[in-house]
Amino acid sequence: MAESKAWQGPSRRMAHDDGQRCQVGRGDAMKIAIDLDNTLVDELGASLRPGIVGFLETLSKNHELVLWTNSKKSRAYGILMHHGIRKYFRALICREDYDPHDLGARKDLRDMGGDILIDDDPVEVDFNAKNGKRAFLVKSFRRNARIDGAELDDILKKIGRT
Ligand SMILES: [Mg+2]
Repeated sequence: MAESKAWQGPSRRMAHDDGQRCQVGRGDAMKIAIDLDNTLVDELGASLRPGIVGFLETLSKNHELVLWTNSKKSRAYGILMHHGIRKYFRALICREDYDPHDLGARKDLRDMGGDILIDDDPVEVDFNAKNGKRAFLVKSFRRNARIDGAELDDILKKIGRT
């Protein structure tokens, strides 16, 4: 019965490979996919985007967060663990999960029943916006770059109920 919101296709399997099930039926809780490289961390995975921990903490209280990255799982997992932010994500979707042959597949929220994408790649954001999904573009975070902290606050306000 509660399977109507179940994930479809290959990413359904992959997204649950940590053995946890989606949380469904919680009112206005949304499934939010968040990119890794240049969104959460710099291009080396060495430093966290300023303000991102509070951002994840806030969003994860009311929403289900999924990391969606074009990086491979071993790299992504290592970065998340190194920075102590794995705990905010219900599941990981990595390159081998949605683009195993590296064909340039898009992060299609429709494939995983997602509501929102947060990404620094305008191509991914535009693709999902055209499909009627909410998608927020963040400035690419690069090592030692200055970042406007208001950017994350603005996204929290737009998502609402945070
Ligand atoms: Mg990126």
